[in-house]
Amino acid sequence: MAERLIVVGGDAAGMAAASQARRHRDRADLEIVGFERGHFTSYSACGIPYWISGVVPERPQLIARDPATHREKFDIDVRLRHEVTAIDLDRREVVARDLDGGGEVREGFDTLVYATGAVPVQPDWARGGIAGVFGMQTLDDGTALLDWLEGEPRPRRAVVVGGGYVGVEMAEALIQRGLSVDLVEKAGQPMATVDPDMAELVAEAMRGIGIGIRTGLTVTGLEARDGRVAAVVTNEGPMPADVVVLGLGVRPNTALAEAAGLPLGPTGGVRCDRRMRVPGMPGVWAAGDCVETLHLVSGMPVHVPLGTHANKQGRVAGINIGGGYATFPGVIGTAVTKVCDLEVGRTGLRERDAVAAGFEFVAVLSESTNRAGYYPGARPMTVKLIAERPSGRLLGAQIVGWSEAAKRIDPLAVALWNGMTVDEMTALDLGYAPPYAPVWDPVLIAARKAVDALGRR
Ligand SMILES: Cc1cc2nc3c(=O)[nH]c(=O)nc-3n(C[C@H](O)[C@H](O)[C@H](O)COP(=O)(O)OP(=O)(O)OC[C@H]3O[C@@H](n4cnc5c(N)ncnc54)[C@H](O)[C@@H]3O)c2cc1C
Repeated sequence: MAERLIVVGGDAAGMAAASQARRHRDRADLEIVGFERGHFTSYSACGIPYWISGVVPERPQLIARDPATHREKFDIDVRLRHEVTAIDLDRREVVARDLDGGGEVREGFDTLVYATGAVPVQPDWARGGIAGVFGMQTLDDGTALLDWLEGEPRPRRAVVVGGGYVGVEMAEALIQRGLSVDLVEKAGQPMATVDPDMAELVAEAMRGIGIGIRTGLTVTGLEARDGRVAAVVTNEGPMPADVVVLGLGVRPNTALAEAAGLPLGPTGGVRCDRRMRVPGMPGVWAAGDCVETLHLVSGMPVHVPLGTHANKQGRVAGINIGGGYATFPGVIGTAVTKVCDLEVGRTGLRERDAVAAGFEFVAVLSESTNRAGYYPGARPMTVKLIAERPSGRLLGAQIVGWSEAAKRIDPLAVALWNGMTVDEMTALDLGYAPPYAPVWDPVLIAARKAVDALGRR
């Protein structure tokens, strides 16, 4: 009889695991059943802001594989609108509620992949059931927001609460749709994933496209009219709003895991080993936004909910379930985003992370341009490097600038991943031609500056 794999969660991590397992084992050997409580499988949540803004016109463009494709191409039986409500590890079965048809199903498993993603942080004040308030995590969340934006009375004023990258991207999307947008952030700047000196450049660009940035403000509640949101109440008074988007971050979606007795780590994510097995739970695997992982620079457990990791972790779990061997060693925190034409990249530790991890370090900021200064379209680019003292090992990097800035973080991520020092980096053989870089690439200029700061030359 075929072994049975059950996957809880039908997006990046869950479906990557399922399809990799299938590539290694055929139907006669492994039956695969997936449960997804939403309306879609294998979609790009990362693409939601660009769909909301209209840059990506149609929702189906964000869906890589629907259930029919999973069934026909991979012989994976994914059941939409089925919410797993319990996992019984002793009886090796899951209980799932049919959200549309009603009723409950019980399905046995030999192997389980837990891939439930994350849930948006929702403060008490957002829980009152007032219409027009949206967390943003799944394609269903994006659909609900778009329906509201296109409904009557047509919303005109948006408040985004929280200035992480999702908040920033959603603020941009809403302004591109023609709404007036304010972003409220408790800290001194939005975009806390970079240091404040770099975040200020992002804030400037946001103001430049008309987003009102209200920092140092705490949201305490909402005001409603006829059940619809009318204002966001802050410690400095109310701000009118016809739509509110929460960008307060996410936490691992582990309620089911916890109830089933899966071990959680200090960040709240499910604990996994390098092969994405859940320790002490034979036949149980986890991947994606619901797990915690290792930060390879600080050595600390971290929760870094990104699609790039979810896909890799799911793939690793699937290869291993399929009988192969693969590992996910951890992360260094590389991420990119943009605000209109301003691009942002970051990898490794920020200054405050380096302090918390106990490193001695230097931090340098260097200004340069994306192209040769004389070449049309040359625009400023700011590169920040954080290097360990005295070794010179790169600990972190951040870039803010115009075209070609964000993905310039990649050579820095590779250098950091491989433990390079800033001294070694000054000799890197990076490409140069006037349309693409000044003769000294901004990355090399920053490395030279870090070497100077270390007192080497
Ligand atoms: C607006 C936005 C922009 C983003 N941009 C980027 C980006 O640019 N780059 C990047 O790397 N990452 C980005 N991300 C993050 C990325 O989308 C996530 O890291 C990724 O989707 C995680 O995949 P996952 O499979 O772990 O979780 P999810 O995509 O959250 O999928 C989990 C699925 O499990 C389902 N589920 C949960 N509980 C149950 C249950 N009990 N029963 C059945 N089904 C259940 C959910 O409905 C969901 O579909 C973005 C996210 C958002 C929201």
